[in-house]
Amino acid sequence: MRTFSSQHRTVRRLILYIILFSSAITLISSALQLYLEYTKGVSDINAEIHQIKDSQLESIALNVQDRNIQLLQLQLDGLVKLPGIERISIVTTDRVKWRAGEVMSNEIIDERFVLYQHGREQEPPLGILQIVVGLDELYSRLTDRVYFIVISNGIKTFLVAGFILYLFQYLVTRHLGKISDFAQNLTFDKPIPPLVLDRTEKERSSPDELQTVVTALNGMQLRLGDELKKRLEAEQKLLASRDQIAHLDRLNSMGEMVSTITHEINQPLTAIASYAQSATRRIDNARPEQQAELQQWLATTLKKISEQALRSGKVLQRIRNFVKLRAMDMQRLDANTMLREVSDMVETTANSNQVSLVLELNPSPLYVEGDPVQLQQVSINLIKNAIEASHPGAQVVISTCLNSENNEVELCIHDEGVGVSGEAVEHLFEPFYTSKKQGMGVGLSISLAIAKAHNGTLKYQANAQGGCDFTLTLPAVGEEVAYDV
Ligand code: ADP
Repeated sequence: MRTFSSQHRTVRRLILYIILFSSAITLISSALQLYLEYTKGVSDINAEIHQIKDSQLESIALNVQDRNIQLLQLQLDGLVKLPGIERISIVTTDRVKWRAGEVMSNEIIDERFVLYQHGREQEPPLGILQIVVGLDELYSRLTDRVYFIVISNGIKTFLVAGFILYLFQYLVTRHLGKISDFAQNLTFDKPIPPLVLDRTEKERSSPDELQTVVTALNGMQLRLGDELKKRLEAEQKLLASRDQIAHLDRLNSMGEMVSTITHEINQPLTAIASYAQSATRRIDNARPEQQAELQQWLATTLKKISEQALRSGKVLQRIRNFVKLRAMDMQRLDANTMLREVSDMVETTANSNQVSLVLELNPSPLYVEGDPVQLQQVSINLIKNAIEASHPGAQVVISTCLNSENNEVELCIHDEGVGVSGEAVEHLFEPFYTSKKQGMGVGLSISLAIAKAHNGTLKYQANAQGGCDFTLTLPAVGEEVAYDV
């Protein structure tokens, strides 16, 4: 419907332009025609006047010379009847006058000829012949012609314009509707027949502008259909690969989770195993007189085992909380106390690696705000890494200090072990980077995440002894609350 009316809008505009243009042409051509008729009328009058001069001037001069008044008057009366001539008069040098007719027109042509005696043109003239031709008749004839010329030109132009419009409608407009319907109903999901205009076979076989548009539209429909098909296929492939990526991502997250859990639980389990092994050894080797001492030792060791078992539970709880994105259990705690506790926990590992732990803690408590289990986790990880990198007989120094400039507490783990190679430094904190056979490579990345979650930092530095210094920095807080496990 919209196509139809817009199609008519074009036709209406075309009609308007044709009317305007044809009216202008009609007016110009009519004006030209009238001007030509006017100049022809005027030149006819001049020709008539000159004909009178050529044919009558001599005999009029003779009659004036002979004073043949009767003949002269007859001659004048005859001339004044010629078309357009309104008055004709003769005035002699001795002021005698003859004339015929009256001037009636407003616009006239006034021609005067000098009368000489025949063959005596050098002598004084006899008088003057005045011929007055009226133009009103010419004008009224032209006025009558105006209507005729304008109306006939108008009819001619409008007939031509109408014919052009008809041709335009027949050759173009009626096809536009079909073309626009085709374009509006274009679909690419199912094949549709190509656009064919209602034209004769001859018209169709000789390609013109319309046929070019039709061919272009049919081609466009085919190409767009192909493109759409390709696009749909590409979208399907993309969806399939997105599913695959999501699947891989889930697998990856699961793998990461399993590694984290294994790593974190492995530490207390190793401690429990080593306590249990040494308990078995003590029981096997104990002599009867050592029973009381053994009992006391076993009580202490079982307490340590139960502490480690509880710690495993807490670690699991933390991981669960981490997965559930629960808030951390923030407390004020003394970094010195925490590190004393942690070094007790890793003592067995240190012993079995023949490494001694040295505590160089700040003389006064250093309070920080943090999740005790998470900070323990970081410290255990750093100390265990240091022990594992150290040679037998070496020391691992655990120290704390207050950086009063930044109001930060620094926890440093210093070892004199194998150190980190230049290339490995860049990957230290990346998940799954490990140089150990049994390593998971997640300890440092988790430790860094925990440090950041506490608004702190975890930094590595090579030291002069060829080993590593790992420094955990946490914002210092007031002294009110002491650490309590
Ligand atoms: P993992 O201990 O399971 O390998 P971590 O993330 O804790 O995972 O450590 C990653 C790697 O960083 C280790 O495999 C080791 O190569 C290196 N590393 C960490 N701490 C030290 C250290 N104190 N001395 C030497 N290398 C270390």
